[in-house]
Amino acid sequence: MEDLARNSAVNLLVATKALVLPALFFLCLGLATKGSALLGDIRRTARETALNLQVMLANVLLVVPLFALANQAMSGFFAQPGRQLVDTATWSQLPAWLVILLAVIWGDFVGYWRHRLEHSAVLWPSHAIHHSDTQMTWLALERFHPINRATTFLIDGAAVMALGFPPEAALANHLVRHYYGFFIHADLPWTYGRLGLIFVSPAMHRWHHAADPQAFDTNYATVFSVFDRAFGTFRVPGPCTVPLGVTDRIPQTLLGQLRHPFRRTVYRGLFRRK
Ligand SMILES: [Zn+2]
Ligand SMILES: [Zn+2]
Repeated sequence: MEDLARNSAVNLLVATKALVLPALFFLCLGLATKGSALLGDIRRTARETALNLQVMLANVLLVVPLFALANQAMSGFFAQPGRQLVDTATWSQLPAWLVILLAVIWGDFVGYWRHRLEHSAVLWPSHAIHHSDTQMTWLALERFHPINRATTFLIDGAAVMALGFPPEAALANHLVRHYYGFFIHADLPWTYGRLGLIFVSPAMHRWHHAADPQAFDTNYATVFSVFDRAFGTFRVPGPCTVPLGVTDRIPQTLLGQLRHPFRRTVYRGLFRRK
């Protein structure tokens, strides 16, 4: 019990410290792009941000300790002969930068399809928590239901291990996609112009969060918009100015959000995106 409390305290400290640099970065970026209007934006989004931080706290305390165990189990499974599609030694013949790039491309490809799966009827109620934030701020990335955290961790983790990527490439993939995830959730109108045909822009992901039927089921990738273009889900008509959020009735409280996927009524519209 003491160990559990100590581990939770360490996890909480690590998670809090990991927010300091992004917070400074997005504060400077907000001041550079919005000037004094940033203060009004911070006030307007304060309630949603407070809930995002509460959900993050719940994940750190409830889910992160289980990830360490799951990671051990998955590593043990893929360490057995014949379980990896590519032998780890194969990667050592390529330059480190190329291995990292391939790991990020593979991670984003798998993340694209995992995200599509999260929009299916069974997983939508847990993923809808992420979409229930009606404001775009970098901290919206912290609002994920523990079930959603688990599906992401298990599917993305297993996919990277299955290809036998070395630990440093797996870590780089995680960090790149995590920190870029903060960036595409930031309140920035940027579409990137032609570069947006390759990379996901903040405007592209904002459209993914739009409460507009025309925007449903589009823009699933995190880093490379090429996956949405290849699989017919790319849609960026310009900067997104429509309201954000979901049509599902989700309480804007921590307990309400945690309970939401466990309510039977939320599965009534199986296989229909709301
Ligand atoms: Zn989504
Ligand atoms: Zn998002």
